[in-house]
Amino acid sequence: MHSFYWSLILCVFYQIDRARKFLLYFSILYRLSCRIVILNQMKNYLQPEIICLGEALIDISPASRGNSIVATGEMRMAAGGAPANVAVALARLGTATGFLGKVGDDFFGYHLQTVLAENGVDTSQLQFERKANTGLAFVSWNAQGDADYLFYRNPSADTLLEPAELNHGYIQQAQVLQFGSLLLASEPSASATYHALRLASDAGVLLSYDINLRVSGWSDEATARAKVTTPLAFAHILKLNRHELEFLTGDNGPEAATQKLWSSNLALIVVTMDKTGCFYRTAQASGFVATFPVQAIDTVGAGDGFMAGLLDGLRRGDFDFENEALIKQACRQANAVGALATTRNGAIPSLPERAEVDQLLQDRRPEE
Ligand code: ADP
Repeated sequence: MHSFYWSLILCVFYQIDRARKFLLYFSILYRLSCRIVILNQMKNYLQPEIICLGEALIDISPASRGNSIVATGEMRMAAGGAPANVAVALARLGTATGFLGKVGDDFFGYHLQTVLAENGVDTSQLQFERKANTGLAFVSWNAQGDADYLFYRNPSADTLLEPAELNHGYIQQAQVLQFGSLLLASEPSASATYHALRLASDAGVLLSYDINLRVSGWSDEATARAKVTTPLAFAHILKLNRHELEFLTGDNGPEAATQKLWSSNLALIVVTMDKTGCFYRTAQASGFVATFPVQAIDTVGAGDGFMAGLLDGLRRGDFDFENEALIKQACRQANAVGALATTRNGAIPSLPERAEVDQLLQDRRPEE
């Protein structure tokens, strides 16, 4: 037994003077309180405030940026998948975050687990699948400078997430469940996603939907449009870019198009507008928040960083959607994270740490 406890027993039995006893009891109380603090911190880590549900994939892109992958021939790999990127970005901003999804029981899957864990994301709910490999996403730049995605997910481990594999308590105790649309393109992952959405919704967990449309993940555009629209009936927070807005509504003007998308369950829609900033709509207000001028070299990861900046900002104001100042502040932080992510290559490597975001927010003059 620890010598400290032996000394306590000796004190009680041999009646040493009161002052020493007092010091001893005080020190016991102090030690106990330290343990309670540590246990509380562990609880936060094990039960994250925000859970990111979806795909963790390996991104394979041309070794030299901005080129066609076929023309370049040389490729490089990186951990990716939008929900995994958002989880890492949130953790870097200081929000307790967990990732919920499935990877292959292969070296890519274990690499993804390592990257998530090294970044402080809870991976206790990451499943490993033997029947399929970790999904691959090839990224290539076309002549217009836009990224084209080619998925090797037929099936991949992420699509095999089963409803029965979800940890109910883990989902029900979160503050926010963040999800995207890619798992909806396959079964059983679509059923697992809807199961998680219902569990969260019944438990009063906020549902945040980043459409993150990848048309190539679907059989055709009409199916994609119909299936990607379905979760709008559950979501409280909706984030999409201008192309996705046009794809869903036929209109890319955020003022009118967000009005078309609005439904009573929604508390906030945010439209990202690349180098200009973003547009927000709540039940009471709408407006535009400008982004930060930066030397952008690669926009991969900007949307995921933006999503994390938005959620982290809203969380710091207790998700008070009626407070327009909070919405603007969260959008401003989201722009800062998105802008910083464009200044470096890749997704996860480009996502900023808290201090860098604070610095950019602080340097910016209020009137800008
Ligand atoms: P997505 O990657 O989902 O298409 P966007 O390209 O609209 O998203 O970028 C997301 C956010 O990142 C923007 O709303 C903006 O805040 C920021 N951002 C993107 N490109 C730039 C840029 N060139 N300069 C500054 N901020 C940018």
